Parts: sequence; structure tokens; C-alpha cells
Amino acid sequence: MAAHFALLIDPAPVQDDREDFAATFQAVDSSAPALSVGELSTQRGDGIFETIGVVGGHPQEATAHLERLAHSARLCDLPAPNLRQWRQAVTRAAAECGPGEGAIKLILSRGVEQGPAPTAWVTASLSPDHAAARTRGIRVVTLDRGIDAGAAERAPWLLLGAKTLSYAMNMAALREAHRRGADDAIFVTSDGLVLEGPTSSVVLRFGDRYVTPATGTGILHGTTQMSLFDHLHATGRAAAYESVPVAALTEADAAWLVSSVRLAAPVTAVDGVEIPADADETASFNRYLLSPRD
Ligand code: PLP
Repeated sequence: MAAHFALLIDPAPVQDDREDFAATFQAVDSSAPALSVGELSTQRGDGIFETIGVVGGHPQEATAHLERLAHSARLCDLPAPNLRQWRQAVTRAAAECGPGEGAIKLILSRGVEQGPAPTAWVTASLSPDHAAARTRGIRVVTLDRGIDAGAAERAPWLLLGAKTLSYAMNMAALREAHRRGADDAIFVTSDGLVLEGPTSSVVLRFGDRYVTPATGTGILHGTTQMSLFDHLHATGRAAAYESVPVAALTEADAAWLVSSVRLAAPVTAVDGVEIPADADETASFNRYLLSPRD
């Protein structure tokens, strides 16, 4: 997903209530250098981000993403982002995504070493084609995340549940999944509970009940999963947050990895064990996820 549009943001304090933040934005050449070599985002991965799906120019679930950006900032002791300013930057970037599917990335870093302020920017790119994952599905392997279910509460400095720029571990997990002949991974705790994918949330169906792992175990609260659960509730179905043992993955009647840009990808095998995929239901989830959502 190479960005074709980039906007540097001069981060405003939360109490800045001006109507129009355009003067704080600077469009820059997305293929040219724009950051200082002292940037803590590149030196230490010290910052946070969000990736928002865009469909037909509409940024999906912008409010949920902005709220999660503020949540990540709190967990990382970064200055609170001015969400009115960020929303205007999102609107500006979404207009650059064209009529198809795109993605906007919001990045807030701690800034340059000993610098006066955080660094912030937004990019826009066109999405790669995710049709194969959405229709044919994905094979996954479970990978031990090396933490138990209590780690998030016991060790908040692990920043579990914040969407930080330190994604090297998540990318390593994807490479390990590919080495094992799978398309994607599901992280599990060392005491045997399901967590999340390296870039997605897990949703399972047992009969007519839908389940996702409880967020207290240090996973990211997925905006796509939240939106899908709203949709399930609105259409009269039961959907709940629970502790999910690893064995439940192969007992499920259907399973999906859901995320903002790939949307709902049905899981067809876990650690080499085939599991049923529901093509009609997956198509219906993706129709919903591709409809304009706020
Ligand atoms: N969990 C992790 C670790 C992620 O990186 C992501 C998205 O990138 C998700 C879950 C899904 O979140 P969302 O649905 O907001 O894209």
C-alpha cells in the first residue's frame, strides 16, 4: 500500500477550538523525504497509528478510529490529540482515495529527540485487491505471544491494547505464518487463550452465537469487530466478548479475521485442521462492511 498522498499536521492542543484547521496542514510529496533523522517513530517505534478503510471516498468508522487514537495516546503518555483537527485531516485524505477502496493512515509520534512537539501526519493510498481473502478465505496458524492472560493488567508498560508503531513483532508473526504454509496467524496466550491476529480481530460463530475474545487480555479493540457486532445486534443476533480457549477455534461453526481494510476474511483452516466457511454469511458481512459506516 504505497501512499500517494501525505499531509503533515502541526498538532493542535485539545483546547484549540478553531473552526478550520487547514492552516495546520501541509501537503507534501509522499515519495520525497519529509521526516527528520531524529524522529523517534523511526528510531524507537515510539508513537501510535490508525488505519482507516475508505470506500467511495467515505472514511469508515472515523469516530471509532479517532477514539482509539486518543486511547492509544493516553496509554503511551502522548499529548491528547485534538480530534476535531484529526477529523478534518481524515476528510482531506479520504478525498484523495478515489472512487474505489482506499486506506488512510494516521500517525502520531513522540517527535524528534529532545524536540518541542510530537510529529503527526496522515497518508492516503489505494487498497490492494482483497477479493481472494474475502471469498476463498485464509488458512491460519496459532502462534504463542509469550504472555499469559494477566500480562496486560500486570505490566501496562507492555502497551498491550495500544496501537503503537512497534509492529515489527506482528510482521515477524506474519512471516512465520507464511513459513508454515499459512496466510495469517492468530496469537494465543501462553495459558491457552485466543487473542487476535497480527493485524486483525478474531470473530467466531457457534450455532447462532457470535463470540470475540475479551479485550482485557491485552488485545486491540477492533473497530471492524465492534461495527460487525453492532450490525449483528441490530439484526437480532447474540454477540459477546468472552474468554476463548484455543480448542474453540477448531470447534467453531465459522471463523473470521476482521480488519479495517481487508474486512471479513473467512478462516478455512487452523493449524492444518480444516474448518467450515460460510460463503453466504461472509458475503453478507462484507456487503455490510463495504456500506458507508460512521
Ligand atoms: N488487532 C490488531 C493487532 C491490529 O493491528 C488490527 C488492525 O490493524 C486489528 C486488531 C483490527 O482492528 P480494526 O478492525 O480497527 O482494523
